[in-house]
Amino acid sequence: MTEENSNFEIVLPDGTVYKPQKNDRDTHDGVRGYDPDGKPKKMTFLIKNGCDRCGECCRRDTPIILKEDMELLIKGVISEKDIYTIREGEKLRSSIDGDTYYCSMEIIKIKPIFGTFTCLFYNPEEGCTIYEQRPYVCRQYECWSQNITVTGLEGKRLTREHLFGDIDFIKDTIKKHEEICSLNKFNDLIEELKKGKGENVEKIAEMILYDLSLRDWIKEKLKISDDILYLLFGRTLFELASLFGLIIEKDGENFIIKVIQEEEV
Ligand code: SF4
Ligand code: SF4
Repeated sequence: MTEENSNFEIVLPDGTVYKPQKNDRDTHDGVRGYDPDGKPKKMTFLIKNGCDRCGECCRRDTPIILKEDMELLIKGVISEKDIYTIREGEKLRSSIDGDTYYCSMEIIKIKPIFGTFTCLFYNPEEGCTIYEQRPYVCRQYECWSQNITVTGLEGKRLTREHLFGDIDFIKDTIKKHEEICSLNKFNDLIEELKKGKGENVEKIAEMILYDLSLRDWIKEKLKISDDILYLLFGRTLFELASLFGLIIEKDGENFIIKVIQEEEV
């Protein structure tokens, strides 16, 4: 086929017409999606009808733990260090579109690998390292179908109450933490601060300090590691602040709190 009889052309924004040149075809294997002779390439589609353990879903997010998964915790397949709490009112960033949204209820999830959205149990060579005993949500998920993984999450989710409800000391400490460091309250204070209520800075700083010192106190008292603190109290207000629109810098014993402009959040 010569340049003259090529049936492939693109009208560019300035009105000129682009036709693939012979050199283009020789050096770049033609235009993307077309064979070198200008015919559309045959396309192949992979159709899944079962899980081939590709890990796509494991790299996108981590599963919510349900009451159904309690057995995995009891057997030690999943330990208390592998999971963390997302509290009601926590602001989260979607791994799909990067948007932020508020979590409407407390949930417990498997931790991601630090700095990623990838599940802690995912290994690039093996895929899921607990595949035969993976959580309910993972077993139910069928990327090849329209199945909705879990319905009625509110009644099915595992909460800290299920895990620690029988241990008064821990239950009461979690309750106290929720009262003083409520994320809904934290968000309200920040929103008011953005609208000019400067005195909220002090209240926000007090919440952040209480959150940190309660963790230190219980860590010392129960001789537990930082890993478990994320299950008991979720992520620290200090860590979450930027998602809520604050920059917090520590200067010795003091905090410097700055509001991030909307477009920077
Ligand atoms: S369910 Fe997840 S791991 Fe299995 S094939 Fe689909 S995306 Fe891959
Ligand atoms: S538990 Fe296994 S299947 Fe589920 S997201 Fe993690 S790596 Fe994937």
